[in-house]
Amino acid sequence: MAKYIFITGGVVSSLGKGLTSASLGRLLISRGLSIRMLKVDPYLNVDPGTMSPYQHGEVYVTDDGAEADLDLGHYERFTGQPTSRKSNFTAGRIYWEVLKKERHGDYLGGTVQMIPHITDEIKARIRALDEKGVDIILVEIGGTVGDIEGLTFLEAIRQIGLEEGRDSVMYIHLTYVPFIKAAKEVKTKPSQQSVAKLREIGILPDALICRSEVELPDDVRKKLSLFCNVPLHAVIEEQDVQHTIYELPLVLSEQGLDELILVHFRMARPPAKMAPWRKMVDAIINPEKKVRIAVVGKYSELQDAYKSIFEAIQHGGIAHKAEVEVIKIAAEDVESGKGLHLLKEVSGILVPGGFGERGIEGKIEVIRYAREHGIPYFGICLGMQMAVVEFARNVCGLKGSHTTEVDKKAVHPVVCLMEEQEKVVDLGATMRLGAWPCVLKKSSKAAKAYSGAAQISERHRHRFEVNNAYRERFEEKGLILSGLSPDKNLVEVVELEGHPWFVGCQFHPELKSQPMVPHPLFKAFIGAALEYVPTSNGKAKSRRKAATKR
Ligand code: GLN
Repeated sequence: MAKYIFITGGVVSSLGKGLTSASLGRLLISRGLSIRMLKVDPYLNVDPGTMSPYQHGEVYVTDDGAEADLDLGHYERFTGQPTSRKSNFTAGRIYWEVLKKERHGDYLGGTVQMIPHITDEIKARIRALDEKGVDIILVEIGGTVGDIEGLTFLEAIRQIGLEEGRDSVMYIHLTYVPFIKAAKEVKTKPSQQSVAKLREIGILPDALICRSEVELPDDVRKKLSLFCNVPLHAVIEEQDVQHTIYELPLVLSEQGLDELILVHFRMARPPAKMAPWRKMVDAIINPEKKVRIAVVGKYSELQDAYKSIFEAIQHGGIAHKAEVEVIKIAAEDVESGKGLHLLKEVSGILVPGGFGERGIEGKIEVIRYAREHGIPYFGICLGMQMAVVEFARNVCGLKGSHTTEVDKKAVHPVVCLMEEQEKVVDLGATMRLGAWPCVLKKSSKAAKAYSGAAQISERHRHRFEVNNAYRERFEEKGLILSGLSPDKNLVEVVELEGHPWFVGCQFHPELKSQPMVPHPLFKAFIGAALEYVPTSNGKAKSRRKAATKR
């Protein structure tokens, strides 16, 4: 039987509960434990698949095709373990299941209630992670203690504590300890109140992790311990990390958080093996070179919308001991003439995935610039589709080329819907999702990046595909279709003949990149960017080969 750790958050949102949970996961794995991680979200959307990036940030996709919370990305990057459909659920999903059962008559005439029906469904989904050989299940409860919508979740995890026994369950509360500048004091009251809220429900935290901008003085730690009813050694401090989020497992380990957990569960394990992790962190902190990359997306201000992209770019840098500076450019700014000059300063351009019309012509302009100037280009999903549109328009001379996502009546619908997508009515969970195999063309840039692999598997989230009717015309003009689905029906990777490094992929490689195992395509992209040398006349040239101008 697995043990459970429940991580709740107090005082304010955006405390980094996901990163803290992921770091804890890393620590426990480093102590030889087998773990599973779960994120539960108390909102009513059935999954985040239909939510705007303004609301929710990036939608993370698992191998088995779940559209999930972005915290699962942190879990995978920190633990190196894949997540799945079982790793995330929302209140919406729970209500949906309970109401379906009610309509089906499964409750045999009983009154269906929050307790026990909703709480039982929550508990069953948490316990579904208790597979053979799993030592610890880490459950992060989304939202903040005190939210009305979170109450049933807190009730469910309280009940699990009662049912499993307190030795088998641990509650960790992440809280905020603000520093009031005018008074020059750190304040414990919000944490006291948030713990009081938990105790009202019947949950007594076993450890407090305190987010703070300053070091916590001893008297403050004592106060937190006394008023929150947590032993002093279980008051853990989590200051903002200095260089990289990947320092966090080291910070928590130094304060003995992993040991605290093992003692609580009466488990004995050898000390954490953190040396490889520390080496990776050192590589980030002490880079040997630097490179600048532009990311041209719909939003330049939303860090979370491209979370995995930014992480994967950094991982590509780690692979070359290079620091990567990312210049975020909004595609709309390129359209209005504000953004294009910024590209003179970069050694690589990436256009990430996206949906809808906004900024689309700006993206196409940027891709043209990368193609004509021989600047390494990496197009992901929409970024690949737009590379195909740009190529069709400006190299093949097919005026009026577009994706039918933006122009339903495009003269040349070079990117369009496949037959099975034409029938789709609902927006939720109906895209081409999850891991799909892809066969790579021998000696292509993609195959080289994957160390010569003939077949790969990557995660998808899109509706539109390259239109097969144009394949021949593309190939004639020098667009290499270097990755295809095994039945050859879908174009998965394209690259440009004669360009130093211009690769577009229909899948999302960023989802599988980890700091300890940087993704091959990101590694190759950053490698190409490091080799790129701009010339003094503002035009650009690569050390490898001059760019072909068409
Ligand atoms: N909007 C495009 C599609 O649905 C691309 C999706 C994406 O970039 N994830 O095909």
